[in-house]
Amino acid sequence: MTIEGRDILKTVAREQSQQMRLCSAEMPEIVRIELSNTCNMSCPHCRHHSKEKRASENYSPYYRTPIHMSEKQVEDIFNEVAPYKPSVTLNVANEPLIAQTFDFAVKTVKKLGLAGTFNTNGILLNKDVSTLLVDTCFDSVTISIDAITAETLKKARGISSLDKLIDNVDILLSVRGNSVFPRVGITFVETDYNYHEIPDFLEFWKKRVDFIRINGFIKDLTPDVSMIPGIQREDMPKRIPCQQTFRDIVIRANGDVTPCVITAEQPSIIVGNIFKEGGVKAVWNNDHMNHIRKLHNTGRWDELPYCRQCDYWIETFSMKEEIKNGFLIRMPSPYTTFYNVLDRLDNWNRDLHDRQGVGRFQDVSVTKK
Ligand code: SF4
Repeated sequence: MTIEGRDILKTVAREQSQQMRLCSAEMPEIVRIELSNTCNMSCPHCRHHSKEKRASENYSPYYRTPIHMSEKQVEDIFNEVAPYKPSVTLNVANEPLIAQTFDFAVKTVKKLGLAGTFNTNGILLNKDVSTLLVDTCFDSVTISIDAITAETLKKARGISSLDKLIDNVDILLSVRGNSVFPRVGITFVETDYNYHEIPDFLEFWKKRVDFIRINGFIKDLTPDVSMIPGIQREDMPKRIPCQQTFRDIVIRANGDVTPCVITAEQPSIIVGNIFKEGGVKAVWNNDHMNHIRKLHNTGRWDELPYCRQCDYWIETFSMKEEIKNGFLIRMPSPYTTFYNVLDRLDNWNRDLHDRQGVGRFQDVSVTKK
């Protein structure tokens, strides 16, 4: 981690003077949609579709049969949320480029004037997909690569074809040419076997793309901050409510809504179904969601088994920011660091919230180094 993780924990501890209470709007600010429930890879560190997970008796029945949202379902969701101008992410626990409605969803998001993003493993990123994204002025795409050597890629993603992934990113950049959109980023999930490659990874991609995002590894429904290099549990500030259920709705391909991005790992954790219970707004404001919010706002998160063991609430704090080595570096929490290339900020869309390192809080201070 290039920014010392302890710094942000000290910063957020200072910000925390009283029990924080969060509010949710009438509709979510961020809509995350799983257009299909499947993936074309089995990355060893994937919490959803690794070989181990697929082979396990614990592999959820939800994942065993492919589900694809229909165009009608996708259109209904976007038509309902569009007046509230949320930003949209076209994936959850799936690979969006294999979804049957991917092209339709991209076009619909932009037709309705929404800001959109998605994360892909890059295997199917080709000229047709690139042309679609450029022609629609789609806002942002991130490609997961996680390594700077083929050997490490094999450990992270179970494949060795690093050159192929680089070529696919180059195709997108080439099709984009002098166009502004989409904003292109590369992601890296840091683990004990690839952590040492981060400096070279940043240098390599800094010359090519608009931003690099480094994510802390999350193990099986238990985001544990002490697993992030450089962070100790005793550095954590006093716990506050988690912003996830106040800001994001996470919709599965079958319409089920899971409380947050972390519980998306277990399809059995459900708070409602938008296809059966009246749509996005109905589930977003239902008793189950409101109960979770109430428990968080009254400091009773331990009553939720999935929240009890989760450190991801640390993302609720304001982000730390600095300008260094040609990057505008933004760190919403020890789990996420955005390295935005300084001279490629023209396509930085503030509507994409903190997933683009923009953040919804405006009280960050910039430190020039
Ligand atoms: S604390 Fe963790 S499990 Fe609970 S809502 Fe937040 S991210 Fe989800």
